[in-house]
Amino acid sequence: MPTSRYAIPPIPFDTEKPWTNWGGNQSCSPAFTVRPRDEREVLDVVRFAIREGLPVRAAGAGHSFTPIVQTGGVLIDTASLTGVTGVDTATHRVRMLGGTRLSDLGDVLWDKGLSLANQGDIDKQAMAGAVSTATHGSGIGLGSFSSTVRWVKLVTGHGEIVEIGEDNLRELHAAQVALGTLGVVVELELQAVPRYHLAEQITYPGWQETVSGWQENIANHRHYSFIWCPRDESASLYELPTPAGESMVDRCYTKRYQATELSEPDGIVTTEGARRDRAYRIYAGGFMIPFHEMEYYVPAEKGQEAVTAVRDLLLTTHTDQRYPLEVRWVKGDQGLISPFHGRDTTVLSVSGAPGTDYWPYLRDVDALLEDFEARPHWGKIHFLTRDRVRAIYPEYDTFVSVRRTYDPSGVFLNDSLRQLFG
Ligand SMILES: Cc1cc2nc3c(=O)[nH]c(=O)nc-3n(C[C@H](O)[C@H](O)[C@H](O)COP(=O)(O)OP(=O)(O)OC[C@H]3O[C@@H](n4cnc5c(N)ncnc54)[C@H](O)[C@@H]3O)c2cc1C
Repeated sequence: MPTSRYAIPPIPFDTEKPWTNWGGNQSCSPAFTVRPRDEREVLDVVRFAIREGLPVRAAGAGHSFTPIVQTGGVLIDTASLTGVTGVDTATHRVRMLGGTRLSDLGDVLWDKGLSLANQGDIDKQAMAGAVSTATHGSGIGLGSFSSTVRWVKLVTGHGEIVEIGEDNLRELHAAQVALGTLGVVVELELQAVPRYHLAEQITYPGWQETVSGWQENIANHRHYSFIWCPRDESASLYELPTPAGESMVDRCYTKRYQATELSEPDGIVTTEGARRDRAYRIYAGGFMIPFHEMEYYVPAEKGQEAVTAVRDLLLTTHTDQRYPLEVRWVKGDQGLISPFHGRDTTVLSVSGAPGTDYWPYLRDVDALLEDFEARPHWGKIHFLTRDRVRAIYPEYDTFVSVRRTYDPSGVFLNDSLRQLFG
């Protein structure tokens, strides 16, 4: 899109600065990239884009694998929209700007006596980015980040600032998981919990032992998850520590976390696999080696059967695939297009190596899990069409109707999102 056709944006900008995601499988060249510092600058930029007829997308930390950030119009980099804006220690509510990174929250909340209720495998995401795709950790009693959202402030497709709170649950449930299609989230409020420490236990059971302890492990741990390895090299692809000199074939890197009382600093243990520490430090982390991930969600009662079926696929049909199968659990919620809408969930994640043809494998996993009423992670590779989204989300039409209210002319859509939600 040649930028000379357009007026000059109201805040500093780059032209045709390429954007690429963490995984390197999504990229775009926006006409303008801007980095607003407050809601007024976001508002000015969105109004500029509306006047110029340019589409707008917001970018968090770029950790999604799907084409949900891309735009040829205005890309709003939210890296300067950061910081905690309010903490209510009585209600455990926390407000923050949309671009605030998860990794920036731990110390600030701890000093106020609070923690996030749960976290996922990494803490690099921006909170609005994490919430927009229903990012989650593991624990059958713990919901996604989105399920903890109690209020949002948006710049909408009308070029207005709008607040959505608990007095409007229909729209709040739309805003909890919206892929940025209602507008730019400039600020949001989450329900946090009193701060807590975690005790970690990492073990390496074989498949049969994992199957025998299935329900008991889910029910009796705050966080239970495992990563099943089809091959010896599988663990290293996710940078997992393994027992020295032992094969990981058909074994599971298994994590259990329980809340625990401990006094600091004497009670802190930093030994990998047996850590005892503040919750946010246990969750902290990232991956250095990129992979391309697909993640599907099935009703928890079908989880064991679904995981067994994907394991069989890796052992019998796709023996060339080396990445592990990660399995987690998430509590059901009410977000209109939350993958956890109305059901406790078993999470299955698989990956392919960048630069290889992993598509036949991922398509087979997709076809297999369709029979289990699977809903995909919005930020990870999937094969959804509009018809499939409508079939798996009972509140799909409500969501689209709310989206059209906030953005009737589709300022916040790109080609991929228009196909699904236009
Ligand atoms: C290594 C790795 C580990 C991961 N681990 C987990 C995990 O444990 N659990 C899990 O559920 N997922 C996980 N994910 C997926 C990741 O959490 C999601 O894709 C998440 O959306 C990424 O957040 P982000 O800040 O990078 O957002 P982006 O990918 O930049 O954006 C995601 C979406 O949010 C929108 N958006 C961002 N900011 C705003 C805003 N201010 N206003 C409106 N819309 C906005 C974007 O337009 C886009 O549609 C992982 C991904 C990677 C690469």
